[in-house]
Amino acid sequence: MVDDAKRWDTLIRGGRLIDPANKIDAKLDVAVRDGLIAEIGTNLKAENSEHTLDASGIMIVPGLIDLHTHIYHKATAYGVEPDPIARRAGVVTMVDAGSAGAGNFAGLREFVFKQSAYRLLAYVNISYPGIFAFDKDYVVGEAAVKELLSVSHCCETVEQNRDVVVGVKVRLGAGTSGDIGLLALDRAIEAAERCDLPVMAHIGKPPPTYAEILARLRPGDVLTHCFRPAPNAPVDDSGSVLPALRAARERGVLFDIGHGMGAFGFHSAESSIEQAFPPDIISSDVHALCVDGPAHDLLHTMSKLIRCGVAIEDAVAMASWAPAKAMKRPDLGHLSVGTRAEMSLIDLVDTDLNLVDVLGETRQADTMLRARGVFLKDRFIDADSRPWEQPRDQD
Ligand SMILES: [Zn+2]
Repeated sequence: MVDDAKRWDTLIRGGRLIDPANKIDAKLDVAVRDGLIAEIGTNLKAENSEHTLDASGIMIVPGLIDLHTHIYHKATAYGVEPDPIARRAGVVTMVDAGSAGAGNFAGLREFVFKQSAYRLLAYVNISYPGIFAFDKDYVVGEAAVKELLSVSHCCETVEQNRDVVVGVKVRLGAGTSGDIGLLALDRAIEAAERCDLPVMAHIGKPPPTYAEILARLRPGDVLTHCFRPAPNAPVDDSGSVLPALRAARERGVLFDIGHGMGAFGFHSAESSIEQAFPPDIISSDVHALCVDGPAHDLLHTMSKLIRCGVAIEDAVAMASWAPAKAMKRPDLGHLSVGTRAEMSLIDLVDTDLNLVDVLGETRQADTMLRARGVFLKDRFIDADSRPWEQPRDQD
């Protein structure tokens, strides 16, 4: 209950507000009432607020979105529990990238999404069983069997779950789609067309090649694992960005990091960024085989991109407004007055940590991003609290 004399429930004072969608990067206070951003300004008065949070030295950014995660824990071997990772990484929204297909999507909703304190969304895998066999020593490609790639079942699942589905996922590569990669991609695009959704296409080892995949993707589709090492790196043997990438970006195809255990190489990232080809979106592809390294989580992945030359405010955009747009969710990923008060509070700490890519190459970091907590649904969840023990109020 808010004291009637108080205009706001919470006032967050003294932080550096970075809101790329509104082109704001300044020291500003944020006032919250009834779960919405009530006011943004300088010198907002503490006496007008029930609670005040001192954010000196802290960056206040739109609730971070990790567009590529695998959180169907216990039902898939590589799934991780979302809430502890969201909490430690200051993430508000996690998007499962095709762990489930039409055959088991209901379980993802029932047993994972409903239990979480955070916003969980998903891409539906074009393959009926989702990613059913992915473990450190055991991989069977879900997109390699034509009979599993059912457009009608995928679309039916989308229709039943419109509120949480953001697109159609397909994994392409020798180990995932075998030699029918382009057929799998065509099926995913057909489903996405029918449902008016974007595709997220995973690129692995060829076949198909980077250029073959990009040639089929439509404006708004997402290519994930964009800075993987060779083979199928974004750069050629001399380190130049492939013309196919520039042509696809020109058409509106989006490039997502999707770090994971095999899909982020410093050479690919540094070469691309140096040649003015940064990613559009930063995501972790966190799952059981990379949660303890090399990917860790979204903030760790953002810190790596910053080490590769991406400015902090751009890294924030790539993990908030950019993924919100990719999901066609313009209600998320920005801090406009009147919108949901969803904010991530992060800061930059000095470190001498060696960052490691998927090949084991290292780069010494000077600074790393650290989560202080998130503001979500009317309350502040400290990075050290246990939000998953609290009941979830649904949107
Ligand atoms: Zn993935």
